[in-house]
Amino acid sequence: MLLRHTNKEIKPRKALTVNPAKTCQPIGAMYASLGIHNCLPHSHGSQGCCAYHRSALTRHFREPVMAATSSFTEGSSVFGGQANLVQAINTIFTTYEPDIIAVHTTCLSETIGDDVNQIAIKAVKDGKVPEGKHVIHASTPSYVGSHVTGFSNMTKAMAMYFSKSTGTPNGKFNIIPGYVEPSDMAEIKRLVKGMGITPILFPDTSNVLNGPMTGKYNMYPDGGVTAEELTATGDSIGTIALGATASADAARALDTRWKVPCQVQDLPIGLGATDRFIDALRKAAGVSVPDSITGERGQLLDIITDMHQYFYGKKVALAGDPDHLIPLVEFLLSIDMMPVHIVTGTPGKNFEKRIREMTDHLPYPVNVKAGGDLFQLHQWIKNEPVDLLMANTYGKYMAKDDDIPFVRMGFPILDRVGHSYFPTVCYKGGIRLLEKILDALLDRLDRDAPEESFELVL
Ligand code: SF4
Repeated sequence: MLLRHTNKEIKPRKALTVNPAKTCQPIGAMYASLGIHNCLPHSHGSQGCCAYHRSALTRHFREPVMAATSSFTEGSSVFGGQANLVQAINTIFTTYEPDIIAVHTTCLSETIGDDVNQIAIKAVKDGKVPEGKHVIHASTPSYVGSHVTGFSNMTKAMAMYFSKSTGTPNGKFNIIPGYVEPSDMAEIKRLVKGMGITPILFPDTSNVLNGPMTGKYNMYPDGGVTAEELTATGDSIGTIALGATASADAARALDTRWKVPCQVQDLPIGLGATDRFIDALRKAAGVSVPDSITGERGQLLDIITDMHQYFYGKKVALAGDPDHLIPLVEFLLSIDMMPVHIVTGTPGKNFEKRIREMTDHLPYPVNVKAGGDLFQLHQWIKNEPVDLLMANTYGKYMAKDDDIPFVRMGFPILDRVGHSYFPTVCYKGGIRLLEKILDALLDRLDRDAPEESFELVL
């Protein structure tokens, strides 16, 4: 449905969300599970939930996403899903042969009150979990939080289940990349290795959801963090969590349990946040920044200088995940753009606080909302039009209705292909992000230019 009927008049709403700016917890948990090598995600609930979560991920990544389900019937909905899950664990290990099953719950199993921890213990006692194989689980009720919360819960679960400390540091560094594209995870890994640091990146969906076409179907692709690597996270010399919402809980859990010191940083989106990430790595691991990385930084700076005249003073509306929006707003402000409407569907007080800290001094009002929706964003746009909209695919309806240049960013992107192969994080990703923004702005300029000022060189 196009949104041409969205009106300007904003009325207070409490118990109603219109066009959500988020999706459900298990999608995030399923995505995180796919970042473990030889792991099959398992949805403890009805088939419909699992089908939706798989299709959302398949449509975004254009890769077949496999997951099992407890396949609740009326009986399990009333009496609980223990029998279904124990049988599922047995069938999965004997038929599909993963090393790990990562179970996440759904609204239904949470409402019934299934104790998945107890069911997993029973499955082990009953001999349904073969030697050397693992069942991990996370509680992911979708009436709390968002897909980012689900990602965080599953990431914490993998750290809690596997990590051990031998008492001897292994010289490695834990990096928790947050809910980003596989290409972003690969880029973060490349940069960390470029600093001379050996990372344990978890979860790691690079080479899982953006792998090569080989002509052969592989149910468990080559990528993903291994069980051995996850076990070693307890011996690492430190952890950097990228993004407070998606990654901080797992990092703090390792700190609390094994005294692995952790830092929570913003996702490295844009110049300032990437600088802070590199600096944190440099200090924590006691290494120096190589010339190659300084060169990449210089390229981003050069592009900013070349493009700045087109960005200056352009108003932007944004919708997305909190961990993406915080550094993105900082980046846009640093190139003299004007973020005026900012919405995340994920609830949490810290988001509004961080955005306010960055924007309070500005000479124009900024609308910001955590736990908001796209209808609210659209109403704000109707009242205060913008030059650019950045959001996931669902933003295209607003962009069409109000004829706004549109850059797709975040999750899900269902109507474009390639985003999982090109990073938008770190210095290289910053260049791509700016190119996308500038293309959208200049395409509009060309489209609207009268013949006498339709310029070849802009
Ligand atoms: S019932 Fe809950 S878990 Fe299932 S698809 Fe709906 S929101 Fe997601």
